[in-house]
Amino acid sequence: MPKHDPMNRTSDFLKKNLETMPHKKRFDYLNRKLGAIVQYAYKHSAAFKNKMDSAGLKPVDIQTIKDLEKIPLTKKTDLMDLQKKHPPFGGFEGVPITELRRIYVSPGPIHEPGEANYDELGWAQAMVAGGFRPGDIVINTFSYHMVPFALQMIDNSLHRIGCITIPAGTGNTEQQVNILREFKAAGYCGTPSFLLIIAEKAEEMGLDLRRDLHLKVGFVATEMLPESLRSRLEEKFGMTIRQGYGTADIGCLGYECFKKNGMHVPDDKIVEIVDPHTGKRVGPGKPGEIVATTFNKVYPLIRFGTGDLSILTETPCPCGRTSPRLVKILGRADQSTKVRGLFIHPGQADEVVSKHPQISRVRVVVTRKEHKDEMTFQVELKEEVSQPEKLKSEIEQSIRDVMKVRGDVQFVSKGAIPEGAKKIEDRRTWE
Ligand SMILES: [Zn+2]
Repeated sequence: MPKHDPMNRTSDFLKKNLETMPHKKRFDYLNRKLGAIVQYAYKHSAAFKNKMDSAGLKPVDIQTIKDLEKIPLTKKTDLMDLQKKHPPFGGFEGVPITELRRIYVSPGPIHEPGEANYDELGWAQAMVAGGFRPGDIVINTFSYHMVPFALQMIDNSLHRIGCITIPAGTGNTEQQVNILREFKAAGYCGTPSFLLIIAEKAEEMGLDLRRDLHLKVGFVATEMLPESLRSRLEEKFGMTIRQGYGTADIGCLGYECFKKNGMHVPDDKIVEIVDPHTGKRVGPGKPGEIVATTFNKVYPLIRFGTGDLSILTETPCPCGRTSPRLVKILGRADQSTKVRGLFIHPGQADEVVSKHPQISRVRVVVTRKEHKDEMTFQVELKEEVSQPEKLKSEIEQSIRDVMKVRGDVQFVSKGAIPEGAKKIEDRRTWE
């Protein structure tokens, strides 16, 4: 926490009236927004009209959030396929190309129409909630090239809340350190791992991170943020760090408030959590794939399947915001599976690992023997342990506690799990 900062960085809102709406008012508000965007997209987006027509739906069939489930999901692979067939945007765009300001190209490759008047709320809400304030000089180290995140989303949102941006982009660590020092930058936007690289470089240059640099707030995204890394960076710089989550296609889908209590869904999106294997919505507190709907007329994606897994909670947050929250990101949906009828996901494997500091890496392998599912945790240890049998049974107990399903632990030699291996590997065949 900044000690001598006269500004209140710990509580404020971008749009308090929206962010603190009572539950019923929020439901009505979102239903109105949803009805309007469905009407609009049906009229202006050829791909959305086709999707509705092929499901036998008309805009009038979608009156409330509850009706959303009738609309088939759009996955990233659908975007890519349709963009190839109908370049450049696959018919998902909601305005003629001549009305765009920019066109972005994300890895895939996948194209995103860039808005003439960017008015997304989410990232600006995220930064206000994270303590960014008017007049802050902010270094933005996300990549400005080709992709929409740094330029369209973060740069515009910083401008909207009155911050002064240094568009630093990635790389040139030493120069970034000098810029931070010279301009007394109070804010950092970028990945947590790049902030750590900056810290190490600054220390190598003989600087005192708290005395010579002036960072007070950080907004990080696009990478997992382990709590241990967050607290280490906060301690080193004497700053607070909050994170956000979203995708290049649809923008911000969640951000942390100062209470660090999961990620609030912004007020210009609807987020559902569905079973990735059936596409049906799961209840609050249950894990599933994040499916999002935006009210953005330029790129009106409706029921977009992000491929990421999370849990949604509607329990009240002490910050006063009333939107539901994504508890945390649990990994990729294509790495989740069902074992003996129970849904398991990569986030659970991470949780098991976090309980046993002796473990360096794991891979969960699911097989089938005599028509029964078997789950094996392949475990690489940091170093040999004196009582492997004891550790094995302790890990197996953690697996039962976390995953609610029995799994066997198999210790493997260092390097046996290949780099880039899936965390959960489903080897079952169904012949
Ligand atoms: Zn909150």
